Amino acid sequence: MPACPYCSTTKAHKDGHDRAGKQRYRCSTCQRSSTDRTGTPFESHRWPRDVILMAVRWYFSYRLSAANVRNLLAERGMDVSRQTVADWVQKFGVLLAEAGRRHAKPLGRRWFVDETYVQVGKRWAYLYRAMDEAGQVVDVLLREKRDLESAETFFTQAIKRRGVVLDEVITDKHRAYPRAVKQHAPNAKHRRTGLHRQRALTTKPVERSHVPVKDRLRSMRSLGSVPTGQQLLEGIELAQAVQRGDVRLPDRGAPSSVHERSRLEVATFSWLASGLRTAARVA
Ligand SMILES: [Zn+2]
Repeated sequence: MPACPYCSTTKAHKDGHDRAGKQRYRCSTCQRSSTDRTGTPFESHRWPRDVILMAVRWYFSYRLSAANVRNLLAERGMDVSRQTVADWVQKFGVLLAEAGRRHAKPLGRRWFVDETYVQVGKRWAYLYRAMDEAGQVVDVLLREKRDLESAETFFTQAIKRRGVVLDEVITDKHRAYPRAVKQHAPNAKHRRTGLHRQRALTTKPVERSHVPVKDRLRSMRSLGSVPTGQQLLEGIELAQAVQRGDVRLPDRGAPSSVHERSRLEVATFSWLASGLRTAARVA
């Protein structure tokens, strides 16, 4: 017997099916009825959770447009509009990315921070990204401008989301960084490449890590706006964290073949989605 999503007692019994053919339960304590989607962000959607999740995962993991995903679903007999696919990826990319951060491998205290540019509409916007010394991406932030405010917002968001006390920050010479680091990571040592000329000290790893993201963006004509771009980038980064194994279903070792790897990615997405909750509506 599943727990009632409204009152959390376990006295829910089977009570027929809803319009989508889903098993419905009725709670003998509070008398409300529910399905396994009640209280989850999948509740308001017509399509089953697994279909939505497959579409979202395809979109973020491969170089597909929303129209490509629509066509792949149509091949399997599921008629969904391109706009519906776009709505799903915007909504669920952010939610899954948030779940991914909660279940990621422990993050290092030495961050490499860099910014790159991506096209938003007809203009260029700046994408701030950081990674730790093990190559795990810390956070991403898309901004209209490359300035002190953007650098500060990036550090604020990344530190808040990841809850890490920084030991060291490595950046390029961009002049906003010294103040941003001093303000938001006052106890961290800040090293700027190109000034000290130490061989080991370089933002190359994070610069290289921009490449798969930019590759993924190339198959979209451009991002529509900074806010929607941010939503998509969060989903893209999550898919890549899952591919790298930085976010992985617990108790699973490294996959033994490419096929096993693909199935592990599917299972990891499904596991992240199974934990998504919205506050249960009080009927
Ligand atoms: Zn109840």
